[in-house]
Amino acid sequence: MSAPNVLFLAIDSLRADAIFGDHIPTPNFDAYAARGAQFRQCVSTTTSTTPCFSSMLTGCYPPRHGVRGLQGYRLSSSVTTMAEAFGAAGYQTHAEVTGPLVPETGVLRGFENAHHRPGYKVKPFVWRDEVTQRMSSYTEPWMTLLHTWEVHRPYRPGPDFVRRWDKGGYEAMVAMSDEWLAPVLEAAGDNTIIVITGDHGEEYPDTRLGQKLHRAATKARKKFRLSKWFPYMDKKFAGMALGHGFALWEHLVRVPLIITGPGIAPVRVEDQVRHVDLFPTLADMCGVTVPGDIDGRSVKALIDGATLPEEPAYMEAVGVKLEGDRITAVRTPDWKLMRFKGSKDKDALFRLNGGSTPDEKHNVLTRHPEVASMLAAYMDRVLAAESEADSPLSESDEAVIEQHLRDLGYL
Ligand SMILES: [Zn+2]
Repeated sequence: MSAPNVLFLAIDSLRADAIFGDHIPTPNFDAYAARGAQFRQCVSTTTSTTPCFSSMLTGCYPPRHGVRGLQGYRLSSSVTTMAEAFGAAGYQTHAEVTGPLVPETGVLRGFENAHHRPGYKVKPFVWRDEVTQRMSSYTEPWMTLLHTWEVHRPYRPGPDFVRRWDKGGYEAMVAMSDEWLAPVLEAAGDNTIIVITGDHGEEYPDTRLGQKLHRAATKARKKFRLSKWFPYMDKKFAGMALGHGFALWEHLVRVPLIITGPGIAPVRVEDQVRHVDLFPTLADMCGVTVPGDIDGRSVKALIDGATLPEEPAYMEAVGVKLEGDRITAVRTPDWKLMRFKGSKDKDALFRLNGGSTPDEKHNVLTRHPEVASMLAAYMDRVLAAESEADSPLSESDEAVIEQHLRDLGYL
């Protein structure tokens, strides 16, 4: 059979439990999971869109690819993108993206055809038929990145989805994505590897009461200037933040990962895999050469039912709400070490217990210093790859990115 095509579907803000849990009906995604490899413990690299995609598309952690936030960074010219590698191997490459993934960020480097569509003030999935139509004219073999914004706040579910599933809107949008994306996945054809993942997770109120409480807290913080008069209370209320980007808790970094296609037998993988592993894995499956100095590795062996030694995952939170105070972490299925404000004194170690029953409330660092120092050593190695920004943004590019972030409600 000729080289397989690749359809890489990245649903913005899609949590792992949205697909692998039972509380949202996703029959179409479930069908793909059942006939391919379903990775039950995939973690994202950051919790902000542009750095997330930079990691997925380069196999590198942020210190190496250089995109350390939504604003003010451009992808380093020293890394090779998935589009560049697949293009060099004879693939036609396409990007259908939205939200903050504007060309000025450098994230779309190497895509032969890149379409960026508006992510705000548009009806959900209005773009679908046009994109599906374009897919029918692709030349094989092709590799396509499809990024969707419908599961990102603010949620705008169609009326039938509100009636059936609405709680906060998030779950309705996941159900709607399952139904509306089915024809796009179908149109990809049999000789296509289909990847389904989320770029990061999400914090959302899953009851109407939760929504009301959140609205009241936001109002109170503003109206009574809590940060000035009652900083403790302000901190408490700020902890009720919704969305993503501001932390690295499990529901914000655990995403679903499904890989299905020609020659892939059904397999359920419980091992931890990372978004930086995606590029090398897909390249491995398609006979595409990857650059040597990347952070990820091919996990094709796991798809083939074999085993691999455990590898830790590095992650960092760089959201706008953190105002420059980055949070970094290293995760294994059993542990997560978090570092706040870049200071070792503020390290915290949490037990994840294999990922099934994580405890992110009790800091157990003093009881397990040897685990903490092992994870800290990995963090140091990742951070050592940090390079000076080699392709600074021009003022006009910066302005374009800022306007998009404003439109999307980030600023
Ligand atoms: Zn995102």
